Amino acid sequence: MAIVEVAISIPLHRTFDYLCDQEIETGVRVKVPFGAKKVIGIVLSNKDKSEFKKLKSVEEILDESPILDTPILNFLFWAAKYYHHPIGEVLLAAMPKNLRLGKPAVIKKVIGLPNKIQAPDFDITEEQDRAIKAILAKQNAYHGFLLHGVTGSGKTEVYLRITQEILNQGKQVLVLVPEIGLTPQMISRFESRLDTRVVAIHSQLNETQKLDAYLLAKETQAGVILGTRSAIFAPMPNLGLIIVDEEHDGSFKQQSSFRYSARDLSFIRAKQADIPLVLGTATPSLESLKNAMDNKLTRLTLANRAGGAIMPKVSLIDMRSNFDGALSKLLIEKMQQYLAKGRQVMLFINRRGYAPVYFCTECGWKSECSHCNASMIYHRHINRLKCHHCGDEKMPEQTCPDCSQSTLEVYGYGTERLEETLGSHFPDTPIIRIDRDTTRRKKALAQHLEKINSGDPCIIVGTQMLAKGHDFSNLAMVGILDIDGGFLSINFRATEYLAQLLIQVSGRAGRGLEQGEVVIQTRYPDHPMFNYVLSNRYTQFASGLLKQRMSAAMPPFAHQALLCANAKNKQNAQEFLQEVAGLLKNVNMDTVEIWGPVANSIEKKADYYYFNLYLQSNDRSALHQMLATFNQHVDAIKLKNKVRWYLDVDPID
Ligand code: ADP
Ligand code: ZN
Ligand code: ZN
Repeated sequence: MAIVEVAISIPLHRTFDYLCDQEIETGVRVKVPFGAKKVIGIVLSNKDKSEFKKLKSVEEILDESPILDTPILNFLFWAAKYYHHPIGEVLLAAMPKNLRLGKPAVIKKVIGLPNKIQAPDFDITEEQDRAIKAILAKQNAYHGFLLHGVTGSGKTEVYLRITQEILNQGKQVLVLVPEIGLTPQMISRFESRLDTRVVAIHSQLNETQKLDAYLLAKETQAGVILGTRSAIFAPMPNLGLIIVDEEHDGSFKQQSSFRYSARDLSFIRAKQADIPLVLGTATPSLESLKNAMDNKLTRLTLANRAGGAIMPKVSLIDMRSNFDGALSKLLIEKMQQYLAKGRQVMLFINRRGYAPVYFCTECGWKSECSHCNASMIYHRHINRLKCHHCGDEKMPEQTCPDCSQSTLEVYGYGTERLEETLGSHFPDTPIIRIDRDTTRRKKALAQHLEKINSGDPCIIVGTQMLAKGHDFSNLAMVGILDIDGGFLSINFRATEYLAQLLIQVSGRAGRGLEQGEVVIQTRYPDHPMFNYVLSNRYTQFASGLLKQRMSAAMPPFAHQALLCANAKNKQNAQEFLQEVAGLLKNVNMDTVEIWGPVANSIEKKADYYYFNLYLQSNDRSALHQMLATFNQHVDAIKLKNKVRWYLDVDPID
């Protein structure tokens, strides 16, 4: 009888031993009894003896050869250790659902090879050429690059050319893109240019398609995997290059259960595979800028737009004197001018729904969610108030619950109300609204995009779904509304994110030969950030922020971890973290600072109270040692009335 060590997906930092009548290869899936259930696990090793008595037996061996090969297993072991997350949960989270459920690892439908490859009808610029040569010079070993190119500078063109070169060597390429960056346009651009099978991995696929994509990568039938964050775990035995597009984007960080950063993990995967890594963006994160300063990334710059296009002209409209709603007179005039010339205009407002506030003009009562510390958002087309945190909804009150008068009104603007207001100013112009509510239906987004791509004059209203990836050739002007919340946020990264967003959104304007225009409405026109945004000096702005972070000893100059506890009983959540803080202070590591517990910025969500304990250190290994200690001893703290908790290493908000 052999003994095999099996990882299964449970929230414990340990593995389990089972008997089997034969040895099983590492990385193979097995079905094993666990408690009263049968579960799917991954074989990690074969042993001669076990420290446990009375072992149960493996019920079924599911694979003839390993699903997870040694390189992927080593990568996942590293990730589990770094994020202090249970190995079984990490291994199973890295696989498509159908494999997790024990379904056979067979490809249902092989996507065809592209039939005809189109060559581009332009020559690369000198800047592009330099970047491509620099990357390819290091193609046979690990080397990290930061490709910093302004919006429209031809970064994607650089990706395509280095990818083709790596494919020519018989290797595979992994391209990671943000959730909203993986547009049909991006996929078809890769498909039409590269002499290989391009497989996209994203949330819109059904489970069969996801499994097929995973297996095509594993069997090297796909040369390119183009995917959102979870694609970092795609098995690619011949991996020769990793590209992370829009590396600054927050969607590379998973914000539930296994809280990894695909951007950060891309360094480890590239190092382990000994291949180049390219992080591309117009607005590098402070983390990447620091890595470039420390020579961990080689910086390559594309300072000019490709194909003769010029950067848009950016200006501000001071909204402090504007009392009549969302749109200033000046903005409306500018829109009229562009529309009259047959051009398209886009308005960006980062809030869906009709209005964010429903309140009483007499007594100030405001409609709030009864499960969360948050306002209810009014949605007009269904005449309901909705909570965007927990999803609860209700009919709007007719009279004020506090003063009983019929003096209830909405305040503020979301995409839906903006669309309505625009309709009264521009009755003859088509208005295309793109947000989560108008794109819920399958194919709806594609239909909207098709209308825009026809080039006919129209007004596009959208949320940050429109911030990147789209290349609308007749779009001449972008108006940015209601961004002032970013100046008031308590998140220390808020101005960094806001500057990135403004530059990304602005980048949509004027991609053709005529200069585009960007207008930003704000009540804080004197904010120093605008000096930089208006003149397109992101790097100088970011350098200033980096200096501030350095003198305040904040990330990326310090390392953080967050322990979040939540419970229906507020005190239980707080007390749990107090106990943890006490325990950690006993560990006596002077190099790790502990603050908290403090209430989360939204204290109550879906009836649970959220509290945070922050750990911070200049010394990454000291911080990680403390997290390991926490994991060893957390069981000693009695969890009162179902306190739930999670650990977030390198939290971003
Ligand atoms: P980015 O990814 O930096 O935003 P893209 O690669 O999408 O930029 O390039 C922007 C536009 O410029 C695209 O339409 C692309 O086809 C075109 N383009 C890229 N490189 C060149 C070049 N060297 N000459 C002319 N046009 C180019
Ligand atoms: Zn009232
Ligand atoms: Zn709610």
